[in-house]
Amino acid sequence: MSSFSGETKNELARIIPENRCCQVAELSALLRLNGKLELTGNNRKRLCITTDNAGIARKSFKLFKALFEFPLTVVMETKRRFNTNRNYLVNAHLDEQHITILNKLGIIDDQNHLVYGVERGIVRKRCCKRAYMRGVFLARGSVSKPGGSYHLEMVFPTHELARSVQRIGESLGIRLRLTERKKTFLLYLKDSDQIVDFIRMIGANYALLEYENVRVYKSMKNQVNRQVNCETANLEKTLEASLRQVESIRRLIDRITVEGLPENLRELAVLRLDYPDSSLKELGEMLSPPLSKSGVAYRMKKLEQLSEGPM
Ligand SMILES: [Zn+2]
Repeated sequence: MSSFSGETKNELARIIPENRCCQVAELSALLRLNGKLELTGNNRKRLCITTDNAGIARKSFKLFKALFEFPLTVVMETKRRFNTNRNYLVNAHLDEQHITILNKLGIIDDQNHLVYGVERGIVRKRCCKRAYMRGVFLARGSVSKPGGSYHLEMVFPTHELARSVQRIGESLGIRLRLTERKKTFLLYLKDSDQIVDFIRMIGANYALLEYENVRVYKSMKNQVNRQVNCETANLEKTLEASLRQVESIRRLIDRITVEGLPENLRELAVLRLDYPDSSLKELGEMLSPPLSKSGVAYRMKKLEQLSEGPM
């Protein structure tokens, strides 16, 4: 995971939605993707969220606390000895009386059947859809740093779940693309505008700012490019005019020789032939005495007229 993804997730982990409906939605997403339900005997159950991200563990704990009153424990386990990778387990211990919570969180439906997709009641409102998407991204998402190749993805264990989340995205105006990779299912975005919409939608302001900065930088670069193109166009115009002048002067000299030219035009005519890619201003600076650009333009016009008219 890039550090950019890490920063984005740290920010998202600190957001606790205000509305109860959204708290339920986000916790439901975290449970769906990072959670499991275990029977622990005596009709007791343990609902557990496992994550290697301390921020997600803290958030899950806070959401549980805000929504329900039952015993919670947080356990930290090290995956292997001498390994710094840690897992955080947020455990909710459920008695018989707490079972309705599973229904509230969209884990079992009204008939006490396990829900495999996303329970519709959880994401009915727009605010809840956004909260659910934030939970999904926190649990299974990553996003590339802006500026390089644009990529945002979320990984799912089943096609059904990926499809459900894709539909939530659709109703929020985000077209997530679905693909299969090594027996997992991926929702992804490649378009920078869509990625910006997505990270704005889930409230990742840090990431949003980074993306906007890169965009501002890019548009500035485009402006500079336009300026360069404009200068190139001017240069082409100057060259075109110069070639026309050179042609006129050659015709004129063929007819009346350099010595035949009026004295005040002679030096300029020769300079033009010697420096075909210099501007009128530059030619004026080479004349002795120097002459302004408009003065040069006037004499150049005279030369062209002479080349056309009979002498
Ligand atoms: Zn809501």
